[in-house]
Amino acid sequence: MSRATHDHVVVDYGGGMVEPTLAQVRALVDELWPEAYAEPWDSVGLTTGDPTARVGSVLLAVDPMDDVVAEAVETGADLLLTHHPLLLRGVTSIAADTLKGGQLTRLVRAGVGHIAAHTNADSQLGGVSDALTDVLGVAVRGPLVQTAGAPDGVGIGRWGDRAPTTVRALAQILADALPATVTGVRIAGDPDAEVRRVAVCGGAGDGLFDAVRAVEADVYVTSDLRHHPATEARDTAHRSAGLPHLIDISHWAAESLWLGSAADQLRREASERGWEMRIVVSTRRTDAWTLRIGQEEQHG
Ligand SMILES: [Zn+2]
Repeated sequence: MSRATHDHVVVDYGGGMVEPTLAQVRALVDELWPEAYAEPWDSVGLTTGDPTARVGSVLLAVDPMDDVVAEAVETGADLLLTHHPLLLRGVTSIAADTLKGGQLTRLVRAGVGHIAAHTNADSQLGGVSDALTDVLGVAVRGPLVQTAGAPDGVGIGRWGDRAPTTVRALAQILADALPATVTGVRIAGDPDAEVRRVAVCGGAGDGLFDAVRAVEADVYVTSDLRHHPATEARDTAHRSAGLPHLIDISHWAAESLWLGSAADQLRREASERGWEMRIVVSTRRTDAWTLRIGQEEQHG
């Protein structure tokens, strides 16, 4: 709702619908993606915002980049919920002429709160990696790494089985389902190899090769695969059965898949609570890469 209405006034829409407070929305977010499931190094939850302020509108995005902060301010959002944290490491200044300080200053001035749901949303059932297994038609059998102290099945990455296909066909499913990016979908390995067992990790997953090999996945889908981890994984693969083949997808595109299901979950919960709260998914592209020059496809 409009900025002027939410500060200290309980907005009643006659039908009993009411704008929740930021504290209430924060509690709901923690219920859906518990902060306790986040990795120890992560920084999740409320970054900025007045817990007593009313939240009539929420904007969901992957990255709290300048463009997204501008979108939140311009569209009159009361809360920006992003997958990636706005502040991950310690800061001693939020001066407006620094990157993060400038973003925070704009949010605070406009009365927009910020919440990050990062590795807690990765780990949670129905989270970021599950958005990928859903698209790939994979029946999930478990996480690649179970989160300590969390219920069974909650953890980083997913693995499971699907109807037989090929590496190339799986890559094509991803290319069709994900927003187009200049880096596209890349394969390392044999595109025509048969695939039944699939491992996925939304975000940068090149630290999980041991777990991927342990579940004997035919293919591993993740993002930000660097040269050395990827070449070493393929060399290791060649010494055994040639597995896993690798599919590398855009970090932003992979995680943007989750926003739709996160928005649906929030809408459902808000409506059950009788909250008047608009949930909108960002239209801004925050993929790091903006242009690609060269061959479309290279075999070898
Ligand atoms: Zn990420």
